[in-house]
Amino acid sequence: KAKKLSGNQFQLYDPELEDRTVESVEFENDLYRALKNDELTAVYQPKYDSLKNVIVGVEALLRWNRPNKGVIKPRDFIPLAEETGLIIPMGEWILRKACAQTKEWHNQGFEHMAVSVNLSPQQFNQEELVANVKQILEDTELPPSCLELELTENLIIHNTKKTLNVIHQLRELGVKISIDDFGTGYSSLGYLKDFPVDTLKIDKTFIDELPENPNNAAITNTIITLANSLQLDVIAEGVEKKEQVEYLNAHGCHLIQGYYFSKPLKAENVMQQMYSQYL
Ligand code: C2E
Ligand code: MG
Ligand code: MG
Ligand code: MG
Repeated sequence: KAKKLSGNQFQLYDPELEDRTVESVEFENDLYRALKNDELTAVYQPKYDSLKNVIVGVEALLRWNRPNKGVIKPRDFIPLAEETGLIIPMGEWILRKACAQTKEWHNQGFEHMAVSVNLSPQQFNQEELVANVKQILEDTELPPSCLELELTENLIIHNTKKTLNVIHQLRELGVKISIDDFGTGYSSLGYLKDFPVDTLKIDKTFIDELPENPNNAAITNTIITLANSLQLDVIAEGVEKKEQVEYLNAHGCHLIQGYYFSKPLKAENVMQQMYSQYL
């Protein structure tokens, strides 16, 4: 079956393509309604101090309970949220939610708890970002030092002057900054000397196949050494196996995030985990 276009052009008619288009339109419409209909949730993945064996903080991660479709993961809706600009209200929503939840944990007696929230480039480049963060901290009464914002290298590399300025303003509020997926971006290590960040998060792709893959081992060691010499914290993400924990500990990285210790959890389950550590 071919559909006649103008002149001599023909296009094969592909019913599947049409279905996909209808689906993607529905998907987009649903995403627009997600916030208003209260379909977003935050889950929290613990960060462990593997020396003390305690949770030191959590990373807030978005989930979307799409009606009749189940839970949608970020990789399936964040790209569209970025394209449509929806990431800005969504990002603000999870920031507020995560700060309020962490303040709640403080009130329950876990006053050391920190929370990190991922910032998309769009959100970061928004004029009101610093004012919004400030307002959210005031409203939720979370101490600013308990909030960490996760940025990616690519965001830092582009638009460096403006980015540097925003990072300075965020740090003036008392907020911490980490570099997510460290080592996977346009890595010019030079930027690290100019950018006042607190933490490097070693990307999962380097943690995978550790310790047997010598290249991954070399990169991981280099990042740990780099963090130590710049007096930055370093955390490994995507840690799934005991051997990885052992390797990281032996090489001086004690902050661990990954399925080995815990998958992302609902807030109430984080609470349970924390209580059980003190039993
Ligand atoms: P990320 O910030 O690097 O977060 C880590 C991702 O790896 C999370 O996936 C987490 O569930 C997963 N993960 C952690 N440990 C393990 C492990 O041991 N094994 C495996 N296989 N996976 C592990 P998730 O929640 O699907 O998020 C994916 C990405 O989506 C995040 O990567 C982040 O870039 C983005 N994202 C999530 N929530 C938000 C948000 O609120 N705002 C923005 N802008 N981006 C978000
Ligand atoms: Mg992250
Ligand atoms: Mg990451
Ligand atoms: Mg990652």
